[in-house]
Amino acid sequence: MSCQRFMLLLHEYFVGTLQADDRDFVDGHAGSCRDCGALMAVAKEISCEELVEFLNLYVDGDLPADRRAIFERHLAICTECLEYLRGYRETMRVAKAAHAHEPEPMPPDLLRAILAARKPSS
Ligand SMILES: [Zn+2]
Ligand SMILES: [Zn+2]
Repeated sequence: MSCQRFMLLLHEYFVGTLQADDRDFVDGHAGSCRDCGALMAVAKEISCEELVEFLNLYVDGDLPADRRAIFERHLAICTECLEYLRGYRETMRVAKAAHAHEPEPMPPDLLRAILAARKPSS
């Protein structure tokens, strides 16, 4: 149970928005639980802010392999950043789809022809 709580608090711990007693819990748990201590070390390789800042490079595959590995390790343990990545991918997908369906601007000649055809003949 406390391992689960540790995981949930980890993102806020690094972002720095955690209450003092929650911080103490995270520090204490990382020190006493070997698995979570290892997670903490992995999470410290890159900060959440840094990850979010370079997320577009990660998604586009523009990161060097060693950097990518750090991102993947962080995403495997930080649920908040993983959610952010999901949201980012979804936004990109929607943006690309919207762009694909955007109608081409009409050439002026065609536009004039349509307007002329619509003029009442009487
Ligand atoms: Zn633990
Ligand atoms: Zn994170």
